[in-house]
Amino acid sequence: MQTISVKHGTYNVHKKLCYRELSESAVGWLVGWFLDKHKLSDTCVLVNLQISKQLDCWGTCHEGDNDDYIVNVATDQSIRDFLATLMHELVHVLQWERGTWEGDGEEEAEKKQYKLADKFWKEGML
Ligand SMILES: [Zn+2]
Repeated sequence: MQTISVKHGTYNVHKKLCYRELSESAVGWLVGWFLDKHKLSDTCVLVNLQISKQLDCWGTCHEGDNDDYIVNVATDQSIRDFLATLMHELVHVLQWERGTWEGDGEEEAEKKQYKLADKFWKEGML
């Protein structure tokens, strides 16, 4: 069983939803499952939660220096869209972890984001 650590960076959110817990649970669910399945080493994902105005889009993802991956997600969207955006960025993490993707990887991420969000909603949340 691999360890997936989630670190929280910027937290610029005024709503009362538990975004931190939700993203921690979602990252653990998807990335943990993936690492386990492919017997990959431990990974650390730093999650920044911001509003889209500051982010200039709904989500971004890049490789970090100290943390393995840095994911930024905008919270001023519906909870389903928030989860789908997070899943979208995490698909990029999985692409980097497995070392392969097609084109810019966007097609796969877009195709999977709502499926993963809904799957997490149904079975992964608790
Ligand atoms: Zn993308």
